[in-house]
Amino acid sequence: MEKLIVNNYGSFDTVFVKGKGARLYDRDGKEYIDFLSGIGVNCLGHNYKPLVKAIKKQASKEIHISNYYLSDVGIKFAQRLLAVTGFEKGFFGNSGAEANEAAIKLARKYGYLNGGKKRSVIYTLENSFHGRTIATLTATGQEKFHPPYFAPYVEGFKTIKANDFEAIKSAFDDTTAALMIECVQGEGGVNLVDEKWAKAAAEQARKAGAIVIADEVQTGIGRTGTFLACETLGFEPEVVTLAKGIAGGVPMGACLFRGKAANVFSAGDHQSTFAGNPLACAAGLVVLSTLASEGFMDKVNENGDFIRSSIRSWDSPIVRDVRGKGLMIGVEIVPSIKPFDIEVACMKEGLCTSVAGNSVVRFLPPLVIGKKEMDKGLSIFKKALDSFSN
Ligand SMILES: *Cc1c(COP(=O)(O)O)cnc(C)c1O
Repeated sequence: MEKLIVNNYGSFDTVFVKGKGARLYDRDGKEYIDFLSGIGVNCLGHNYKPLVKAIKKQASKEIHISNYYLSDVGIKFAQRLLAVTGFEKGFFGNSGAEANEAAIKLARKYGYLNGGKKRSVIYTLENSFHGRTIATLTATGQEKFHPPYFAPYVEGFKTIKANDFEAIKSAFDDTTAALMIECVQGEGGVNLVDEKWAKAAAEQARKAGAIVIADEVQTGIGRTGTFLACETLGFEPEVVTLAKGIAGGVPMGACLFRGKAANVFSAGDHQSTFAGNPLACAAGLVVLSTLASEGFMDKVNENGDFIRSSIRSWDSPIVRDVRGKGLMIGVEIVPSIKPFDIEVACMKEGLCTSVAGNSVVRFLPPLVIGKKEMDKGLSIFKKALDSFSN
């Protein structure tokens, strides 16, 4: 069908026309439960009234003004985002990859100012994912993302194995500019990073003179049950990157910095035409105020635990592990079954999920998902698992 656009994942030809909360509707009127929310983007679900209202209102005032000037909604959003995350300054962009590009450039300049040209190496974790631009692809710690036809890749990236305490003893030295940690490896298969390891790795990297970056493009904005996932890992990064859920579906990314990283960028070091787009900032303000409402995060954690424990209680012979944090959920399937086949079976019955890594079905439902939608989504998922179990 409509294969006119190259930048998609190319798996389904379902054409969606609208959504409401955690439900989506295709052009034949078929209903789907949304356990994916546009890869963790639509954190407030579809057609969330306050979000729609804020975007409409902002569109009638100013949609874009360039970053030669300031917008009042941009200032407001920056102030609130910095206040809720505890960072000092930031850069707005349009995507996760762009936020990570900013972090990479910042790390390089930090290294240069604090050790000269040789301090340029950026460590990322094995199995991590950091984006699709050439530098963020290089940063991505998975060989399958490095086909020969995109070479040459960018110099100065190394990987370290997450949760390997031996590895951190000798990795970092006076050539290390930064250690970049993806707090829960989303695309890699919903793999949790151990809290003690993250702390120890950050400490070693800092001892060697490097800064620490948290890639929270997927885990941030409440996805894992705290505003930032690094809050529970306790390693206090100097730089954090955000995107996906930050503006509830409007494209936006952010790179925030503090401490030793706060004053690395000077005017002109980094820019982007669309950065701080007022429409995205207006949407982002609704996301921040909704997430700050009483009991919101408790519900995210409760619902995540409910989904995980429900799946565990089925004792499905084809499920190897159920893991995750908050509403970032991974269901590892036995090697004999392709998780994509389960995704396809779910789509047929009206449930949107996605594959992560080689063996995991991943759920990233809207943070506002209700009990009815969870129950319906889970019953479709169980049926799909059962159909592969015999
Ligand atoms: C999605 C993702 C990115 C890339 O974000 P884009 O908006 O697609 O550029 C980077 N890092 C992580 C951890 C992600 O999940």
